[in-house]
Amino acid sequence: MASRPNSLQSPRFCGIRTFMRQSQRECPDGMDVALVGVPFDSGVSYRPGARFGPAALREASTILKPYCPVLDVDIQQWLTIADCGDIDTVPGYMAESLDMIRDGLTPFFSSGAVPVVMGGDHSITLGVLRAVKAALGPVALVHFDAHSDTIPEYYGKPYNHGTPFYHAINEGLILPEHSTQVGIRGPLYSREALDWPRSHGLRIIMGEEVHRRGVESVAREVLERVAGRPVYVSFDIDFLDASCAPGTGTPEVEGFTSYEGLSFMRAICPQCRLVGMDLVEVLPDRDVSGNTSHAGASVFQSLLASLALRKSRQAGARA
Ligand code: MN
Ligand code: MN
Repeated sequence: MASRPNSLQSPRFCGIRTFMRQSQRECPDGMDVALVGVPFDSGVSYRPGARFGPAALREASTILKPYCPVLDVDIQQWLTIADCGDIDTVPGYMAESLDMIRDGLTPFFSSGAVPVVMGGDHSITLGVLRAVKAALGPVALVHFDAHSDTIPEYYGKPYNHGTPFYHAINEGLILPEHSTQVGIRGPLYSREALDWPRSHGLRIIMGEEVHRRGVESVAREVLERVAGRPVYVSFDIDFLDASCAPGTGTPEVEGFTSYEGLSFMRAICPQCRLVGMDLVEVLPDRDVSGNTSHAGASVFQSLLASLALRKSRQAGARA
């Protein structure tokens, strides 16, 4: 296996783009973490372009470094990481593409590696969660987003980036009584828009409540609800404020800073049995500054540091 280049010897802007310059492999077997892109955006309700998200996240990731001072852990010391390329989908064909995502990712979730999925719009998460269910059974969902994405259908059709968690609950892919949505905000289609997911046991912590209580209190509640179940994290980049992440299809104001986003990752991910994660809705064409893909890649860096910390604890290297 080719090792990651030393960025003190080979400049970080050199080479073919893999995530954080990790080795490129087709197969996740034997890895701790397997990154994989799902460049699909036929599920958007508004502005398209998230199909170019994986490429932008890989490009932005070249600036990142392996040591995390906040968690005091070196990703390279504890984790074997591969960038396994992208899953093929068919633009415009929702149901078929969801099948391709499920079939393509099921071996990833069976491999023992933690798959880390780069979207794509949020419709892909339904295909990912179907793969999780096939490989591992239902999971507790921890979902960061400005939007609940639990609408039954759009334009008379079931699959869209506003509907994945409606189907995930109906199909038994997630355990709603152990799952939490964090940061939901902005105007809704109606007063009743969130009644259905709440009536099925999903905890929705509105953005206003997150601002009022702060990261620590909310992270504690999320972890208490998980209660030892396997966890899947879905991170829509529009959880961040439109000023921090302008490059996304349906931006919302009144959101969270990149510091708050990464703090949530570092508070939750080392403390739970995380089996996979996605980050979705990065839209490079609107990301004039590159801030959005930089923030998204950094969320993944905080995930990798969290997994490294967890592994170092399991090895007894620290309390
Ligand atoms: Mn959203
Ligand atoms: Mn979303």
